[in-house]
Amino acid sequence: MGTKHMNYCMTCGTKLELKTLKGEGEIPYCEQCAEFKFPIFSTACSMIVMNPEQSKILLIKQYGMDDYILVAGYISKGEDAETTALREIREELGVDSASLRFNRTHYYGPSNTLMINFRVILDSEEIHPNEEIDSYQWFTLEEAREHVRPDSLARDFLEGMLDGEYHFHDEKYGRKGDRYTDD
Ligand SMILES: [Zn+2]
Repeated sequence: MGTKHMNYCMTCGTKLELKTLKGEGEIPYCEQCAEFKFPIFSTACSMIVMNPEQSKILLIKQYGMDDYILVAGYISKGEDAETTALREIREELGVDSASLRFNRTHYYGPSNTLMINFRVILDSEEIHPNEEIDSYQWFTLEEAREHVRPDSLARDFLEGMLDGEYHFHDEKYGRKGDRYTDD
């Protein structure tokens, strides 16, 4: 698995050539624009939502799917990741105040997304989910580990947090929903 580079300029469509940039190594360069073209990817946040005692984890079901997942959302341009995390908690769970702890990040190839994971501690177990959430449940830490969707990045984040040791199973995430192309 090598580093993914764009082959053509996103601005003018010219074929990119690798050119040495001091301190950065070989970076795709557009002769037409006379600019280095750094990789473009999405950034998103996912949240391990916990009760005040941090003894339970909230998992949700969405989009008619059967699996439990973490609350998550894409970062809008101009937002800090922390802002996105709290916005998603407000919009999806109807909760205005929560404390945020940075957890871990991981790049997710199938959707060309850098995922930023937080632990979010609520003031109460009472939530007011919006219509985007089909159902939700509070699980004990060990139950959450078993119930979060298998072979998902969410599961790796959650297990990593519980174990204090991260193992990302990139080969298991699959290629479903692949949005980036090589040509
Ligand atoms: Zn160009």
